[in-house]
Amino acid sequence: GDTRVSLLGLGAMGGALAEALVKAGLRTTVWNRSAGKADALVAHGAVEAASAAEAVRASRLVVVCLFDHDSVHEVLDPLVGDLAGRTLVNLTTTKPEQARQLAAWAAEAGVAYLDGGIMAVPSMIGRPEASILYSGSEEVFRRHEALFGLWATGTYYGEDAGLASLYDFALLSSMYVMFAGFLHGAALLAPAGVSAGRFAQMAAPWLTAMTGGFAGFAEVVDGGDYTVAGQQSLEFSNLGLFVEASAEQGVSAEPIAMVQRLIQRQVDAGHGTEGFARIIESLKNPAV
Ligand code: NDP
Repeated sequence: GDTRVSLLGLGAMGGALAEALVKAGLRTTVWNRSAGKADALVAHGAVEAASAAEAVRASRLVVVCLFDHDSVHEVLDPLVGDLAGRTLVNLTTTKPEQARQLAAWAAEAGVAYLDGGIMAVPSMIGRPEASILYSGSEEVFRRHEALFGLWATGTYYGEDAGLASLYDFALLSSMYVMFAGFLHGAALLAPAGVSAGRFAQMAAPWLTAMTGGFAGFAEVVDGGDYTVAGQQSLEFSNLGLFVEASAEQGVSAEPIAMVQRLIQRQVDAGHGTEGFARIIESLKNPAV
């Protein structure tokens, strides 16, 4: 088959993606805005294109891993004619709406479009623990599944090009809130002379065990009844003490105060005896 591929953007991530293709022996054409980033790849068999246009013309499959949505447009807008009839896989991090916008732009230009969200750091590329989420053209995903397997475990989520980004953001948002919670705990313990490292040893098994609670919350949310028996109630979950204690330690209470606000809105609306999972209603109905 046609194993030619062009990759635009050789930053930390694009470089790792290109390296995996070159190592697998694919005919890989690479391009980067500033010079020098292709040298190691060329030494291993990649072809460096003199321009983005030349890179696009070299392969039917064009992969971009640039900085952001605007940089993708900056590079590809002038090449819309060259891209027509080709396949574009965009692994640049974008918002769901931006991915949808690029998919519409591509459709208009006669370009098959697949969007990807990378759930890995560059050093993980090429290992099955790395994960890349895809959405957009299913035909493109199936055609290039083996190639995508050189980078990571690839999973396809649907024709809506925004889905990969949406899943990506759902996973990363939950991760960042957890990280902030860990660092808040570390800040609380610091005045007591407890190192962050010591707290990390305690918090990792604790939080790992607590992830066992997701399924129970999910069951309540998916069932749509927050009154089912056996749940911790919102009133019982009052985190006011945590907020006060944090302030008394001279530590910002922001992470936990955020959770308390979500609880309080449901209590104020008269749902205090219902389960903790009900705070998802505060999230689905943003405060004005
Ligand atoms: P880098 O900052 O290392 O590289 C950015 C790349 O984009 C460079 O090749 C840069 O070119 C290019 N670029 C930026 N702006 C423009 C522009 N206007 N025109 C042309 N090229 C441009 O970032 P990464 O490689 O780490 O990230 C690339 C994408 O991958 C991002 O969207 C990032 O969110 C995503 N990603 C990265 C992860 C990571 O751990 N690194 C993890 C998951 C996703 P130049 O060399 O000329 O500056």
